[in-house]
Amino acid sequence: MAKHRSCNTFEVLYDKVKEYIADKEELELIEKAYKYAYDKHFGEKRLTGEDYITHPLSVAYILTSINADASTIAGALLHDAIEEKDVDLEEFKQLFGEDILSITLGVSKINKLNFSGDNESVITNQRKILVGLSEDVRVIIIKLADRLHNMKTLFVLDERKQKETAKETLDILTPIAHRLGMNNIKSELEELSLRYLKPDEYYDIVEKLNATKAERDASVAKMIEAVSELLTKHNIKHEIKGRSKSIYSIYKKLDKGKRFSDIYDLLALRVFVNTEQECYQALGIIHSKFKPKPNRFKDYIAMPKTNMYQSLHTTVFGNDGQLYEIQIRTYEMDKVAENGIASHWSYKEKGSNKAAIQSDMEQKLQFFKSIMELKNNEENPEEFVKSVKEDVLKNTIYVFTPKGDVIELPNGSTPIDFAYKVHTKVGDQMTGALVNSQIVPFDYELENNDVVKVITSNNSSGPSREWLKMAKTTQAKNKMKNFFNKVDKDEHIKKGEELLLKELKRCKMTMSEFQSEEVLSKVLNGLKLGALNEIYSNIGSGKLAPEAVLEAINKEEVSKEEKMLEKAQKLGAKIHRKDNVVAVAGADDIKVNLASCCNPVPGDRIVGYITKGNGITVHRMVCPNVANLDERLIETTWNDNNEKFKTAILIHAGAGSDVLLPVVTKAANNDIGVQGVVNNKDLEGQTIEMNVVVKDKAELMKLINDIQMMPEVTEVERFIK
Ligand code: MN
Repeated sequence: MAKHRSCNTFEVLYDKVKEYIADKEELELIEKAYKYAYDKHFGEKRLTGEDYITHPLSVAYILTSINADASTIAGALLHDAIEEKDVDLEEFKQLFGEDILSITLGVSKINKLNFSGDNESVITNQRKILVGLSEDVRVIIIKLADRLHNMKTLFVLDERKQKETAKETLDILTPIAHRLGMNNIKSELEELSLRYLKPDEYYDIVEKLNATKAERDASVAKMIEAVSELLTKHNIKHEIKGRSKSIYSIYKKLDKGKRFSDIYDLLALRVFVNTEQECYQALGIIHSKFKPKPNRFKDYIAMPKTNMYQSLHTTVFGNDGQLYEIQIRTYEMDKVAENGIASHWSYKEKGSNKAAIQSDMEQKLQFFKSIMELKNNEENPEEFVKSVKEDVLKNTIYVFTPKGDVIELPNGSTPIDFAYKVHTKVGDQMTGALVNSQIVPFDYELENNDVVKVITSNNSSGPSREWLKMAKTTQAKNKMKNFFNKVDKDEHIKKGEELLLKELKRCKMTMSEFQSEEVLSKVLNGLKLGALNEIYSNIGSGKLAPEAVLEAINKEEVSKEEKMLEKAQKLGAKIHRKDNVVAVAGADDIKVNLASCCNPVPGDRIVGYITKGNGITVHRMVCPNVANLDERLIETTWNDNNEKFKTAILIHAGAGSDVLLPVVTKAANNDIGVQGVVNNKDLEGQTIEMNVVVKDKAELMKLINDIQMMPEVTEVERFIK
């Protein structure tokens, strides 16, 4: 594996780019991007002491190794420049066009994320990376190169930061590089991550490798000679290279409990030939002379990996009795093996654009499709990230359709997962499954290389609810849930209509009277529903009693005030609290809570919201959460009290300032307790969310005014969640 070097001058980058980009306009674009970045970063240094521009130059240079297109190279050069203060985005767009603006903003958006935060923000960030990936893969490719160069200079950071970065790289970026088939970048990222994350293990392996290097090199050289002679004798033009195992893959094997001396594929070589046919010929010739180890042969040419990797793999006994792992591939296959399908963009036609690259990726890489599907179904970021990590990025197995297409699934998948992965319809209509021609139960756990045939029937009544427990992937589960929801809804509507009809009959009303515009709209308003079908489905699912519909028809209009009072008094299970800090109009004994969204304090204008079964929640009058709820609002007033109240303020300060300490000091000087601070700093400025404990509004306003007076502070506001 050739390691990526850093690059200090534009000339070096430019020469490299010209090796595969000939178009004059595109070369000019790259030059323009460099000049712009140079200008914006002028005078700026990296933590390493180098001029800042060496970073974007190196990122772009790394990308030339996968023959990235001109927009990607330009995006790499500009990825940090766009964050400089004096950048005018309109002008930027004029200069470089919409496409590059969006790539660059994409990278900058990912980079702005603060990865060291709590669990939740890490998950949100990872979600953004994954969504970014599905929107424009070039953003992620630049991000990978950016991370690689930053990892190379990771020594400047403190140990905690080093470990965090390394962990994140292994968690999310190397699996993505793997899926994109960008093996060179992936291996280098893995190795650097290991060095910082587990330095002892890393240097231990390096030492052991060094100690045995001379011996291994000599063995491999002899084997190369023997194989080469053999192929020449059979007139196959070839090249053979010794291959060193990556330190990370050795670490993984040791971690699984293997001993160093047992890792037999340390002796490895790679044979390059010109055609696919020669790959098989070479294999046959090698096997005829060197005995292959059983079960170690893999044909990734006939059945490429899902990241498009192709090669023949075999392990043979050499003349010296040692085992040698041999890979046989064409030069073209090698390009894909090293750099992934990104290597396909290489200027076959001019003007490769986002849509073309993206659709190319989607067609060739199943994992893209999976991410898209999960994204469309996502409920919350945590679920989404978890699903992608488990379904898409982790421990996969590869199984086959009867036609020989490879399907990628997470470990532990069943025929149900397989069927839904092939197509939603195949899953919904599945009635049975054959694995390697044997009928299997639906919860059968698939293994690598299984050939799976799904039996479907148009008459199938759909998936069974039991399947939800048998499926492994979120994708399959989501698809089944969609199916059930639809079925349930249809059933509820039908059942609801029947139930309502009965109730109408009992009250001597006909369906057409009920459906008259006047009656129906009164019912819909009264029940806060949007359409007739909703009435049915609510009745059918048991959420609404048919009697309630009739009540709504017969209900007299009452004044708002009366209604409020009636509701307030009806609230059951009253908790008697004489010491309520808030008095409720017309109902003294009701349980009262202060809303945690707007955190009212005495002196604030307040209003009560009648909750369902949990008393009254008191909001500030201005709280947007009660703006549209006048139906359930009730008047409240503050009682005299000696308590303290928790509330929150939001402080905005300009870029480059740090007002955290002075702000906290101001609170202390005012004798105001601080219960928690969330501090966010980015290039646009600083915001501090601060929870304070105050006696009343006057005390709070004094603090706000004090902070407002600080020159760096641009704005202070009450915080409403
Ligand atoms: Mn960067």
